[in-house]
Amino acid sequence: MKTINCREAGFDCDHIVRGETDEEVLKNGMEHAKKDHNMKEDDMTPEMKEKIRGLIRSS
Ligand SMILES: [Zn+2]
Repeated sequence: MKTINCREAGFDCDHIVRGETDEEVLKNGMEHAKKDHNMKEDDMTPEMKEKIRGLIRSS
């Protein structure tokens, strides 16, 4: 199981994003950010994705 702590991505939010793989947890993180943080696809820069990728934890 892979997880990202939303707070570590810079949001004031206790949501934990989960997925089976890096790609899935990133995808789920994008969905969560769009749904709950009003992010748009265009806001997801490669730099931001790279930063978030660095926050993925394995458990
Ligand atoms: Zn969040």
